Amino acid sequence: MAEPAYFDRVPAGIRGLAPYQPGMPIDELRRRMGVADVIKLASNENPLGCSASVHEAIRHPGSLALYPDGGGFALKAKLAAFHDVSPEQITLGNGSNDLLEFVARVFLGPGRAAMYSQHAFAVYPLATAAQNAPAIEVPARPADAADAYGHDLEGFARALNEDVAVVFVANPNNPTGTCLPAGQFAAFMQEVPAKTIVVLDEAYWDYQAPETRPDINALLARYPNLLVTRTFSKIYGLAALRLGYGLSHPDLADLLNRVRQPFNNNTLALLAGEAALDDQAFVEASVALNARERSRLHEAFLARGLGVLDSHANFLAVDCGRDAAPIHQGLLASGVIVRPMASYAMPHFLRITVGTAEQNDRLLQALDVVLAKAPASTEA
Ligand SMILES: *Cc1c(COP(=O)(O)O)cnc(C)c1O
Repeated sequence: MAEPAYFDRVPAGIRGLAPYQPGMPIDELRRRMGVADVIKLASNENPLGCSASVHEAIRHPGSLALYPDGGGFALKAKLAAFHDVSPEQITLGNGSNDLLEFVARVFLGPGRAAMYSQHAFAVYPLATAAQNAPAIEVPARPADAADAYGHDLEGFARALNEDVAVVFVANPNNPTGTCLPAGQFAAFMQEVPAKTIVVLDEAYWDYQAPETRPDINALLARYPNLLVTRTFSKIYGLAALRLGYGLSHPDLADLLNRVRQPFNNNTLALLAGEAALDDQAFVEASVALNARERSRLHEAFLARGLGVLDSHANFLAVDCGRDAAPIHQGLLASGVIVRPMASYAMPHFLRITVGTAEQNDRLLQALDVVLAKAPASTEA
């Protein structure tokens, strides 16, 4: 069938896009497979849910007829204190995904390129293509390196040129779970021209070892071209509410706010964010559970003859040593949703979110059944 006439007017970048593939929702698998008891370890959500105080905070949101506070005054004040920055340095987003879109909208276009790593977060190429901007995809670290599949920032620095308007760095990275060695990001910033924006996407910051974390306050003070993004979707367990934020020089925040929808954060999300931030005990419990279960799962995958990348996040990239699609399907059939990585050009890998101990046991049992039918050592 011929495309409708208006397709002619759609820029090539958008025509070439395939919509983002989210992890399969639990209800969809129930419908598809008729499996009642489904667990989802596919989207790096917090298996503990969120702080109980969040549920309390959103019970009485006030009038739903009134628009939310478009400036997010109260949440920004709390975030400013939390990060020791000024409220003018904060940009609130409908998820941190929103921040990535703002940057793309302001800085990317024909002749204004984006740079990101091979095997990096899927939204970077999407946001770039939607702006009809060129992309430079820097090859990841080689598969036999200690930091296999991780970002190669030396490669980034070599590939920088006048036309690069935005550099996206995910640290830790999704879907690989890799994290930059301490000091490497700061060294990279020294190489970046002042006209080039660097986005340091720290969606998984809480899960990485403290000694590997870049000193973002020092970096923000020195580099007005740096945007650090954080999210409430992962450690805080608020993915459903869509809340994230950026930290930057006030002038960069001002530009980003020019393309922000006036009310991009709803009232419930704003209230939830404040309550979540106040409960750092929940964050600590989530980090502890993740650390414990992540290393248990890592060992369990190795014991089953699978490869695993060292993860600094709340998921593991598991190397099945062959096409992972049949294993993915086998797990789905038993009610366990994980994430295939073929769309990240890693077709032998599955990305598996670290769940609760019970969920992880269930995953391993299902995996044993699948692998017994098709052992890891057999070429499919
Ligand atoms: C999950 C994730 C995000 C953010 O998601 P939001 O829900 O939009 O905040 C951002 N970057 C990376 C690398 C992620 O994995």
